[in-house]
Amino acid sequence: MGLFDKKFCDVCGEKISLLGNRKVDDGNLCKDCAKKLSPWFSERRHSTIEGIKQQLSYREANREAASRFQTTRTIGENYKLFIDDNNRKFTVSRSSNFVEDNPDILDFSQASGIDLKIDESRRELKKTVDGKQVSYNPPKYEYSYTFKAKIFVNGNPYFDEMDFSISNGSVNTGEHNMSNSAVNSGWTVSTSYSTDRNLEKYCKFLFKLPVFHLSGN
Ligand SMILES: [Zn+2]
Repeated sequence: MGLFDKKFCDVCGEKISLLGNRKVDDGNLCKDCAKKLSPWFSERRHSTIEGIKQQLSYREANREAASRFQTTRTIGENYKLFIDDNNRKFTVSRSSNFVEDNPDILDFSQASGIDLKIDESRRELKKTVDGKQVSYNPPKYEYSYTFKAKIFVNGNPYFDEMDFSISNGSVNTGEHNMSNSAVNSGWTVSTSYSTDRNLEKYCKFLFKLPVFHLSGN
């Protein structure tokens, strides 16, 4: 087989453009077909054409569910967790245009758990004395945090977790830091920080998420 042999998509039959080939275990897939796969699916290279065809028909059926989804709550700023309380469904997407995005719609009962990950970074604040940058005594720091969530999914043949960033970049909390003890005691944060607008915003997520009983029965 030469380097420039023309390849055709084994799913839709279209000619595959140069660099447009998405390899699967037993064939080739075009970019357009690959784009229709679930964004949470990461096993393409180990899939068969038959498996990809099945997934694409599941994804087509999902459009119907996506069009019926009625958002009652959203959580997050970058990726958002959308909740349809009335029909006990949820989905995760960066877009609220479900017709275009076709996000995978799941039942509450399909979420077996959720992990929240908060990463802290700190930067030392300094003062200028005689034209030099020196540490405060005791040292002062400015803190910022990123918030990530991972939802563990059961009963979907194509993915078993949704790993996404809730915060839009990092959230600066000034000199307030979220203490480890606060973090360890179930993601609650001392309410004395509630004067900080940014943190307050994220406290809301933290307070909401454990309240959102995804295992939900
Ligand atoms: Zn194709």
